[in-house]
Amino acid sequence: MKEIPVAAPALDGKEQEYVAEAIRSSWISSSGPFIDRFEREFASLCGTRSAIAVANGTVALHAAALALGLRPGDEVIVPSLTYIATANIVRYAGAQPVFVDVDPKTWCIDPRQLEQRVSSRTKGIIAVHLYGHPADMDPINEIATRYHIWVLEDAAEAHFARYKGRLVGSLSAAATFSFYGNKILTCGEGGAITVNDLALEQRIRMLRGQGMDPERRYFFPIIGYNYRLTNIACAILCAQLERRVQIVSSRKAIFSLYDEQLSDVPGIGHQPVADWAEPAPWLYCITVSHNRYGRTRDELAAILKEGGIDSRPFFVPLHRLPPYENISQHHYDLPETDKLAATGLNLPTYPGLARKDIDRICELIRKSAVPS
Ligand SMILES: *Cc1c(COP(=O)(O)O)cnc(C)c1O
Repeated sequence: MKEIPVAAPALDGKEQEYVAEAIRSSWISSSGPFIDRFEREFASLCGTRSAIAVANGTVALHAAALALGLRPGDEVIVPSLTYIATANIVRYAGAQPVFVDVDPKTWCIDPRQLEQRVSSRTKGIIAVHLYGHPADMDPINEIATRYHIWVLEDAAEAHFARYKGRLVGSLSAAATFSFYGNKILTCGEGGAITVNDLALEQRIRMLRGQGMDPERRYFFPIIGYNYRLTNIACAILCAQLERRVQIVSSRKAIFSLYDEQLSDVPGIGHQPVADWAEPAPWLYCITVSHNRYGRTRDELAAILKEGGIDSRPFFVPLHRLPPYENISQHHYDLPETDKLAATGLNLPTYPGLARKDIDRICELIRKSAVPS
């Protein structure tokens, strides 16, 4: 039997047709009509002035942070429970990430713990909308305003989620998205930055394009990067955007089925949803209480694997990883992060996942419980 993966792209719209069109037109590099169309449509869907397509979600963060002014020796406050790219880009700029615990009500950076981590070197905060749930942006923005620092949203996992009715991507100075193969929308490898400020947009475009002056070809006032995305990748993204409503609603339907079938399994916990949040349905999350379920998260993952079902443990906290565990004078005690990282599991979530497969996954989880 074929293994059920955790994620799989849905490419059954006009993806092939648009890619063929890009190739026929010979616009295969980093200019072309699909790039312009994608940037226009994505900005409009995020409610921002502009969107800038880039090579992936990691360089989206890097370019945005540089454009916001990040310099060597600076500090940036980030959650420890996130994908490593969020902190790595701070290091790329010669700056230091400073970690903060997550709020059990959102699993995102805890605004109540930000202030104690602000120092004279702090230049910004990266708010990650983890596992599709928006971070609590109002108090985060308020603290940033008070200390004259910027906020960058890492929305790699949260396309079209809403915070108090407002779209993520439009809630701070800049926001970044990923279109990696397991994300809600994909083109294989790709990313985007959404911004409202024209000067910031121009700096990002310059950093993306090797630092070249837009008015003067082959004149480079700054050191930039080749962070461009191709017209072929944007052809795929344009097709994905046409079907974004179906893609999101079929993922939501999968969330509902899991919710129903796993609601009363002892020891299986669920992702919280704040009353102001409309999360994006990325990967379905559960937590496994060893005491109450009778098995650890890793034991359950092994049982699923035996049954031909792939799953994914939550991120290892960044303050527990070799590049970051001894970085500074900070003594990190991040209990919520550690607890979630030890118990959280992502279950298969993608538009092609069949109902009978969800039934089988839930049945296996249910019958593997060893209540005491
Ligand atoms: C996927 C992801 C990224 C990086 O995106 P890539 O496109 O893989 O470079 C950054 N942050 C978070 C939270 C992510 O999940």
